[in-house]
Amino acid sequence: MILILLGAPGVGKGTQGELIAKEYGIPQISTGDILRKEVKEGSALGKEAKKYMDSGALVPDDVIVGMMENRIKEDDCKNGFILDGFPRTVAQAEALDVMLEKNGLKLDKVLLIDVPKDEIIDRLTGRRVCSKCGAVYHIKNNPPKRDGVCDKCGGELIQRSDDTKEVVENRLNVYEKSTMPLIEYYEKTKKLVKIDGLGDINEIFSKVKAVLG
Ligand code: AMP
Repeated sequence: MILILLGAPGVGKGTQGELIAKEYGIPQISTGDILRKEVKEGSALGKEAKKYMDSGALVPDDVIVGMMENRIKEDDCKNGFILDGFPRTVAQAEALDVMLEKNGLKLDKVLLIDVPKDEIIDRLTGRRVCSKCGAVYHIKNNPPKRDGVCDKCGGELIQRSDDTKEVVENRLNVYEKSTMPLIEYYEKTKKLVKIDGLGDINEIFSKVKAVLG
């Protein structure tokens, strides 16, 4: 199964992607996670990407497309994969079509997770991430047992540098301008399914499973 998770930053693509990955035994490929790892390691790609990520801008298409071309050829992708955060522009979607065709693969579904803008801002600015294991919390909706400490590994919880109010607003503007046109792009393929992303994580996942079968 090959899936795309579409939706603004903060709608829960990462959370749902993780649940789908476990349930269906296919990897979740998050471009944001890959880039953050590269930044942490200080690689050439990471240094280049950081310039854009800090302000909430998109990393150039050619950098992302090259990165994804390599990733989907890895062994763990042979039974399918979930794309989380890619494609984010029409040019990336077109490049993905070519990539899939070249490898004899077919896209199954595009899940568009929909959440109102006010709720997104609240979710992103209140999000905290474990600096060690990457577990995600929210200061109000899903707080850790001890303030600032990860329940799972005891690591320090931090705010992603692009989850500050100013950068979040820019990321949402970028989403509206560059990524929303993808909704129309995938509506034409009849593979797009819209899912209400408000409410309990497990309830949303039940809706996702009903769509995926
Ligand atoms: P995310 O974790 O998906 O919100 O991504 C964090 C940041 O990584 C974004 O704000 C972009 O700067 C960059 N990024 C992630 N995925 C892409 C993509 N497909 N195209 C361009 N930039 C991306």
